[in-house]
Order: sequence, then C-alpha cells, then structure tokens
Amino acid sequence: MAEARQTVGFIGLGTMGREMAANLLRAGHAVRAYDVVPAAVEALAAQGAIAAGSLAEAAEGADIVVTMLPDTPQVEEVVYGPGGLLASPPRGRLVVDMSTISPQAVRRMHADLAAAGIDLLDAPVSGGPQGARAATLTIMAGGSRAAFDRALPVLRGMGTTITHVGDSGAGQTVKLCNQLICGINLQAICEALALGRACGVDLDQMREVLLGGSAASWMLDRLGPAMISGDAGAGFRIDLMLKDLRLVQELAYGKAVPLPATALVTSQYLDARAHGEGGNGNQALFRVYDRMSGQAPSPSGG
Ligand code: NAD
Repeated sequence: MAEARQTVGFIGLGTMGREMAANLLRAGHAVRAYDVVPAAVEALAAQGAIAAGSLAEAAEGADIVVTMLPDTPQVEEVVYGPGGLLASPPRGRLVVDMSTISPQAVRRMHADLAAAGIDLLDAPVSGGPQGARAATLTIMAGGSRAAFDRALPVLRGMGTTITHVGDSGAGQTVKLCNQLICGINLQAICEALALGRACGVDLDQMREVLLGGSAASWMLDRLGPAMISGDAGAGFRIDLMLKDLRLVQELAYGKAVPLPATALVTSQYLDARAHGEGGNGNQALFRVYDRMSGQAPSPSGG
C-alpha cells in the first residue's frame, strides 16, 4: 500500500458515502462507520468496517473524520449537536466535509472548530455514484494547506483529481460553480432530445454522434441513455440538485452576480419536484419536457 494507513471515522453512508468508505477499506485504511440508518452501518461492517453506534464512537480514535451528508443542517448537527464533533473530536483533530453545503456555513464551522483546536477542510466532490464507486472522484478542497496535506492520503483513496483551491469555503464555491454548469448543461440536453424526438431522429444515434463533437459532455455521456430510455432511477437526486441550485443562488445574491440561466433551470427542477420526481435521478428532468411538449407521457417513479 502506497499511503500510510489511517483510521477514518466516516459519517453518512448514502449513495456516495457507502462507495467512498468502501474504497477507503480497499485502500487499506481502517474505517469507523456511522449513519443514522443502522442498515447502512451494517452493510459497511460486512465489508470490513468497524460499526459505530454513535457519532462519538465513530470519531473516537480516528485520525480524520469524513462527513458525506445531504445538506448544511445535517453537517451542522454533526458538528454542533449532542455528541457532535465539537464535543467529541477525532484524536487527529481533523474533519473533512465532502458534502455539498453552503460555503458561508463552512466558514462559520471552520472558525468555531478552529477555536477548539480542530481543523476543518471542505472537500466536495464531482463524478457521481460511478466516480465514487471507481474511486475516480474529482475533489476540490478549501482550507489550510496543512489540513489538505494531512488529508491527502485519505482523499487519494476516493478520487484522482484532487486540488487545493483556496481557503475555507473555496472548495464549496468551486463545487457550486460545477453544479451550475451541470444543471444548465442538462437543460440543454433536454431541449436537444425533445427537439430531436419531435423531428423523428433516432435519439440513441444522435447522442453517439454528439458525443464525438463539440456538444459532448459528462451529462450527455452518463445520463443520456437513461433520459432516452425513460429510466428515472436514483443516482444524483432531483432534490439534491435543487439544494445545490439554491446554494448557488444564495452565493450569487450575496455577491450581486446575476445568473439568469441558473434561475431558469431552477424553475424546471421545481416543476420536476412538483410532479413527484424529487427522489428520482437528475435524468428525470427530461420528463418536464415530456409534459411541456405533450410527448411520451410517462409515469413518475423509478
Ligand atoms: P444520500 O442522501 O444518499 O446520503 C446521505 C446519508 O447521510 C444517508 O445515508 C443519511 O442516512 C445520512 N445522514 C443524514 N443525516 C445524518 C446524521 N445526522 N448523522 C449521520 N448520518 C446522517 O446523499 P448522497 O447522494 O450520498 O450525497 C451526499 C452529499 O454529496 C450531498 O451533499 C450531495 O449533494 C453530494 N453529492 C452527491 C452526488 C451524487 O451523485 N449522489 C454527487 C456529488 C456530490
């Protein structure tokens, strides 16, 4: 094993976290796993993790605690809540939050944890569940260089493009810019597929052709097949993208930066959620176009 073995407390074993924690085990690290859903902890324990019955138990004896939680309130709960990381820090006094949350909240938590001698790195990811499974995530980290260097052996077990992008909160800022591009790109793909379908072209073939030209994108490559086949199954949920688009707009409002295309695509995502698609993958955005164009009405749900 190339990297020094670390003990990692891993909090949040959902779509992304369970794959990332499993990769840390494969990379030879010890993982103390915790989630509010006991079955998620048991599933990881079956792969060799130490099952923790509480947050404090996961942090106990850990060099680093990694959090992979849905949104800002859950990360704040894990930091400030009863038995949280402020009260029960890991012995290495380093927390790496890999969730996508508010950069402003990250900076607040960074200051509060620093006052207690605990370092916080924001290190959100891009690459989806496939990237999490393959340990090829792109990781954008904000915080001190020293925290980044200490976290690197663990981050290398989960991703391949790992960059220190600035001070606390900078990782989240870069991630939100990533999400803005993903959302608008997905809308562009929806519009192209709706138009191509209305004109009677073979959408699978069209996607193949576009992937060879300047319209190629990760979204078209990875989500295109499910959009065309109408498979709305999970992955990166519509609800999580709506959370990200909200964070993008809060950040932009604070800096007085107009984002008209982001505002437009947010309306389409809200339409998807209003039609029961919140728990489905982002490819379900195409169903908004099904309805708008009166084509291919499909039932909601996976
Ligand atoms: P998820 O909802 O599948 O997983 C979150 C997990 O956190 C769940 O297992 C939940 O039980 C657990 N949890 C919630 N509150 C908790 C608490 N207080 N203590 C312990 N565990 C708690 O979400 P996900 O898809 O894995 O995404 C996690 C984060 O990563 C989100 O911020 C998301 O925006 C971001 N992200 C997701 C993807 C993706 O494709 N799914 C890609 C990149 C980034």
